[in-house]
Amino acid sequence: MKSILILPFIVFGTFVNAQTRIEADRIFDGNEIHEGWVVVIDQDKIVAVGPSASIKIKAKETILLPGTTLMPGMIEGHSHMLLYPYNQTNWNDQVLKESESYRVLRASVHAKNTLLAGVTTSRDLGSEGAGYADVGLKRAIDDGLIPGPRLLVAGPAIVATGAYGPKGFSTEIDIHKGAEEADGNELRQVVRNQIGRGADFIKVYADYRWGANGEARPTFSLEELTTIVETAKLSGRYVVAHASSDEAIRLAVLAGVETIEHGQGATKSTLELMKEKGVALCPTLAAGEAISEYNGWIKGKSETPNRVIESQNSFKTALEVGVTICAGGDVGVFEHGTNVREFLLMEEYGMSRIEILKAITSGNAEIFHLEQTLGAIKVGLKADIIAVSGNPAKKLSSLEQIELVIKDGVRVK
Ligand SMILES: [Zn+2]
Repeated sequence: MKSILILPFIVFGTFVNAQTRIEADRIFDGNEIHEGWVVVIDQDKIVAVGPSASIKIKAKETILLPGTTLMPGMIEGHSHMLLYPYNQTNWNDQVLKESESYRVLRASVHAKNTLLAGVTTSRDLGSEGAGYADVGLKRAIDDGLIPGPRLLVAGPAIVATGAYGPKGFSTEIDIHKGAEEADGNELRQVVRNQIGRGADFIKVYADYRWGANGEARPTFSLEELTTIVETAKLSGRYVVAHASSDEAIRLAVLAGVETIEHGQGATKSTLELMKEKGVALCPTLAAGEAISEYNGWIKGKSETPNRVIESQNSFKTALEVGVTICAGGDVGVFEHGTNVREFLLMEEYGMSRIEILKAITSGNAEIFHLEQTLGAIKVGLKADIIAVSGNPAKKLSSLEQIELVIKDGVRVK
């Protein structure tokens, strides 16, 4: 027992002293910027925050970080720890030619790079053919065996029979799929089984590129999606839907999912429905750009592909309509640890810097039901604190310069 408790602090970081005062130029507390504020943490909790002169606690240690901004650890909304960029190895080959042990070892490196980039929590949206490897990865991180962000995991995710890849093989062979196939009444059992094996929430592919002409078309009926949501809800879990076509987004929203992943095909009226039902949009702008680049697009030089234009337009409309934006890039499609790429695109596509800072901290915390413990620098919350060089409210790329990472009161950078 003892070694499990002590090991992580020796190998991967140091538990900051009981009552450590951290001073930077300013604090972004998850909602707004406060110049000259400081924070005091004790073990894994935030115990004081406010203007420097008002904090009377005599801390045992002080960390001075002039020129930086303190903020809550970033919360990634859409990652795949078990995947890595498709221009290095295409998705089919990752799913079919790499053993689970190899994928897990790679994932442990991805987890470390993510944490060191200032992301202390990540919602991981499916192991993509690696079964429940994400559940094991999460446990190894929680036990302090390997460094990584706190994970919320989906397990294998659910797809309709025949919809998902890998595809293009002999019809006589049963190919190992990137997610678990299920339909109709069977969906109840599959949802329950995934929950029993460790899924924190359920991910469903509400559409996929299986249309008659290879376009994204709905996979599940409204009845099936409702079955999934009802079954998950009984256990206190929510459902998130991959959906890029307007029809599938609408079905998923009507069924009661909490977030739409990608969503670039949503019409204004569907975005209005999302707003009305309180469904958040996780636009994965960076994945759209990355995949276009892998297909030969040179940003700023060649003609902007339709996929990117569609993402830009739907994101702008979502902002106008007032849909809650979940910050999530689909990391894994592009390099783990470069999560900020999505946040920079959110600015480029029209979102204000302060709204983006909120989205990657308190906003995502609220969407993922974590606001009681994470996403803000507030007394009583977990000591997940990072320092970034400069002021991210003035220059968002500050988020790429991480000077300090504390997760659960343990300093890892
Ligand atoms: Zn994804």
